[in-house]
Amino acid sequence: MNSDSYIKIENLSISYEEDDGGRTSVLKNISLDIKRGEYLAVLGHNGSGKSTLAKLLNMILEPDSGKIYIDGREITDPSMTEEDVFDLRKKVGMVFQNPDNQLVATIVEDDVAFGPENLGIEPNEIRKRVDDALSVVGMSEHAKGEPARLSGGQKQRVAIAGILAMKPDCMIFDESTAMLDPLGRRDIMNTIETLNREHGITVIMITHYMDEAARANRIVVLDDGEILMDGAPAEIFQRHEELKACGLDVPQCVGLVHMLGEQGIKIEGECHTPSLCADAIAEALKKR
Ligand code: ADP
Repeated sequence: MNSDSYIKIENLSISYEEDDGGRTSVLKNISLDIKRGEYLAVLGHNGSGKSTLAKLLNMILEPDSGKIYIDGREITDPSMTEEDVFDLRKKVGMVFQNPDNQLVATIVEDDVAFGPENLGIEPNEIRKRVDDALSVVGMSEHAKGEPARLSGGQKQRVAIAGILAMKPDCMIFDESTAMLDPLGRRDIMNTIETLNREHGITVIMITHYMDEAARANRIVVLDDGEILMDGAPAEIFQRHEELKACGLDVPQCVGLVHMLGEQGIKIEGECHTPSLCADAIAEALKKR
């Protein structure tokens, strides 16, 4: 295995049983190599198989066929013990959609301590991890507060801190901003970026929002259980027509540049995030 490969998926397939006893294929022979430290967005319309992939990576589901390796260990190996599963879940943390379902304690810092306590970590180290994790997600001032009084975005940041306190290598965000207001979404996206860029955490972000996917380093587009595209955001969002054909779009700023092009105003360079787009437009204006 490539030494900097962190997650390797080989020929993975899974189907669900229908009420009539038949089976529906959900992921169809997919292979994917995710490098350590990568920030990968998995993009796809509803029902394309994104959550199923996340659940396979977290060992909530088992595939029909194919293999998954995490940090060199085959997690689809039937001889995995409960201890192995526990160890792997520590390495790869999952943040789900609904923050209310992820918080267990009545005080924020107790909630963040819950994971490390279950790992049997000694109290001084737990204290340090809780403080560090709350600081990373910008929630230190709410340490003694009640999760129930927080906004959705703040709750989600506490949920992230709880995973962070277990010192994972990788975090999977399964539509983790879908229930948040725009401010909450922005905070979570900034937090995810910090985790990846400043703390070296490998990020897999499952989303159907184009502007969120645009912030990753690499995008994998899933369509009907197959990998339709795999590449850098700038590359992916050039394939406007193909994205449309599978029920997706491009970020608004890419659409804007496209429309300007149709009016004869040519903008060059990457423009898949608002700041890149502003730079590209400013550059084009200077040349006029
Ligand atoms: P996404 O996350 O991209 O919306 P999912 O992985 O949730 O997609 O679902 C992919 C397909 O699998 C959908 O057609 C969905 O209806 C089906 N599916 C998901 N979970 C189950 C299940 N527990 N039983 C039967 N079908 C399921």
